[in-house]
Amino acid sequence: MKYLVTGAAGFLGANLAWRLLNDGHEVIGLDNYHSGSKSNIVGLMKHPKFSFVEHDVVKPYDIACDYVCNLACPASPPHYQRDPIYTMKISVLGTLNALENAERYKARLLQASTSEIYGDPLVHPQVETYLGNVNSIGPRACYDEGKRAAETLCADFTRLGRVDARLVRIFNTYGPHMRGDDGRVVTNFILQSLEGRALTVYGAGQQTRSFCYVDDLIEGFIRIMALTANPGPINLGNPNEFTMLELADKVQAIVGTKLPIEFNPIPVDDPRQRRPDISKAKHMLNGWEPKVQLQEGLTKSIAYFRSLKK
Ligand code: UDP
Repeated sequence: MKYLVTGAAGFLGANLAWRLLNDGHEVIGLDNYHSGSKSNIVGLMKHPKFSFVEHDVVKPYDIACDYVCNLACPASPPHYQRDPIYTMKISVLGTLNALENAERYKARLLQASTSEIYGDPLVHPQVETYLGNVNSIGPRACYDEGKRAAETLCADFTRLGRVDARLVRIFNTYGPHMRGDDGRVVTNFILQSLEGRALTVYGAGQQTRSFCYVDDLIEGFIRIMALTANPGPINLGNPNEFTMLELADKVQAIVGTKLPIEFNPIPVDDPRQRRPDISKAKHMLNGWEPKVQLQEGLTKSIAYFRSLKK
């Protein structure tokens, strides 16, 4: 099968491309390096079944394929807030262009949606039927509302029978191929620990997140694409929830450091808690559930970032 992966230079795109290539598929990566890394493409280009198109998803494209995996979008708050109007364009126009390309080739589409569509959730853990609590004019809105509009486009294309678009609501995910300067909590804590700097905790560090190792997420993607019928939106993530202070302790214990914690102001609209209800994923995806827990996933990720420093 031929897969088009938008955002192939990014963290999830590169991991998905590798998995598809290892499964014997042909992969066309598309990216403009807005937030992805050239090094991810350099590695992929060594594979004979990988090809690359440098292109901005905001502009239409025409690429023959059997599946479109629409992952192109900055996902880290500092990245997506740097150029919020462009983030909105990537989310909305990028998804529209991906859907139109999929329609042209009768390709199935996988849409990288996000737990951010739940906003600062008032229902915990978050279940797919929860409609969310999003501030439409806050600094996170370019991403949250952009991704919500992208879900609307996918749902309408699907309802109209134009494209079979599968919505994956991705909760915090980490692992190899993330950018070290991504600005997200896992990469910040790992690099701060490896470099002997204070760990930057925002707020009191009592807010929670549930961290999924990337291989588990990608396995979920593969299973969602393989389903014969469209299951509607599906949460994918690890339901084990940690406070940011607990995460800081875990990272330090693995690296073997005892660095100071530097408390910084909490960002505006920072969700206080986040944890996926994965009952639907388990039920629809043949018992899918995360296999790699935080200790093991952090150990692998720390080894990856250590190897980059050599
Ligand atoms: N955070 C932190 N220190 C950092 C970066 C982030 O305490 O150096 C916090 C952030 O305020 C949020 C959580 O960690 O509550 C997760 O942030 P991240 O940017 O990784 O992802 P988000 O889930 O907010 O999109």
